Amino acid sequence: MSRPKDAKELLDRLGAKWSPDMDDFLAGKVDLSQMRCAVCQKKPCVCPEFGSPEYFALLDKRRGR
Ligand SMILES: [Zn+2]
Repeated sequence: MSRPKDAKELLDRLGAKWSPDMDDFLAGKVDLSQMRCAVCQKKPCVCPEFGSPEYFALLDKRRGR
């Protein structure tokens, strides 16, 4: 697996939905660190530890499962 070349590809690979702030990010209006998390929608991110069952449960919820 090669390195994702940008944030969108990274998110696609994670299967996460776009952050509500992604448009502003792509427009250069906000920095990546200022974006709300695409998974928990919080800023700063309050996701469970990446890879944990809680994290994937949250991810599934975001994906509408
Ligand atoms: Zn998060």
